[in-house]
Amino acid sequence: MSLLPLPPAQRTLGHSSLAVSPLAWGMWRLAEQGRSVGEAAPLVHAALDAGITLLDTADIYGFDGQGGFGDAEALLGEVIAADPGLRDRMVLATKGGILPPLPYDQSPAYLAEAIDASLRRLKVEVIDLYQVHRPDILAHPQEVARVLDEAVAAGKIRHIGVSNFTCAQVAALNHFLTNKLVVTQPEISPLRITCFENGELDQAMMLGLTPLAWSPLGGGRLTAPETPRDKAVAAALDAVAAAQGVSRTAAAYSWLMAHPAGIIPIIGSQNAARIAEGAAALAVQWGREEWYAVLVAARGEKLP
Ligand code: NAP
Repeated sequence: MSLLPLPPAQRTLGHSSLAVSPLAWGMWRLAEQGRSVGEAAPLVHAALDAGITLLDTADIYGFDGQGGFGDAEALLGEVIAADPGLRDRMVLATKGGILPPLPYDQSPAYLAEAIDASLRRLKVEVIDLYQVHRPDILAHPQEVARVLDEAVAAGKIRHIGVSNFTCAQVAALNHFLTNKLVVTQPEISPLRITCFENGELDQAMMLGLTPLAWSPLGGGRLTAPETPRDKAVAAALDAVAAAQGVSRTAAAYSWLMAHPAGIIPIIGSQNAARIAEGAAALAVQWGREEWYAVLVAARGEKLP
């Protein structure tokens, strides 16, 4: 049986020289449950101690429909301020461009101010990766590119990425950027497989973008599957997990990492032990037959 390659110890983000771990940790849920700085810090340490160096947040994280905009960034900023040595251990990624209730704003004045506001909340001098969170249909990509390039030139952000962009939106923004995109961040999981066949990952490979997979466990659904389809996907993952002595979640992350685009799954857990457990995924090896069995379970029908 031919085996797919294991992920490397480090990946570079797109065409940049920025080295990151093959797994990331996300802070969408960090500011939930009134988590204090003292409770958030061990989670940051858990990720870094597990060798996870790419940390992903966003200005909208913490927003609960009423308030809380900026809270996850601010909480991370407090953690870093209390222990400044942490900053050098992480590649810091954030996002902006969603502004409730609009819902999206990437007008030049707003986007420039959003970058400054993220820097203030995070209490850092530079953001390593700034991602446009969701496309603003009313923003011309040339204008968006100008603001982002200016932020790079000003030393406020190092690299640029997008999230939830279509292939055409990626191509349009990239066309106008001087500092080309290094990352695209779609939702990808064994339960969300559209980008394997809709061209997004092919475009990422063509342009040299690193795909970051958000909600790699389907927002947690894979850990407690309910529908027949979700259960079939879980069973296909469990077959490999059992054979290699790892958890289903590790099998799910590794399934994504086995794709040739070099997908980096963003672990979403806010539990220190589960964050650390994710690293077991780096040793899971997939055969083609097993890999396709998960895809076919998710498709619900055989490949042609
Ligand atoms: P996920 O990994 O699909 O789901 C994580 C959820 O599953 C958590 O609530 C976690 O709870 C739960 N879970 C239950 N058992 C688990 C286990 N054994 N191991 C791990 N998790 C378990 O990821 P996500 O939180 O939905 O998203 C991950 C990251 O993607 C976010 O933090 C964010 O950085 C990014 N994201 C980006 C976008 C975007 O539009 N760009 C959208 C959504 C998310 P516990 O905390 O209790 O473990």
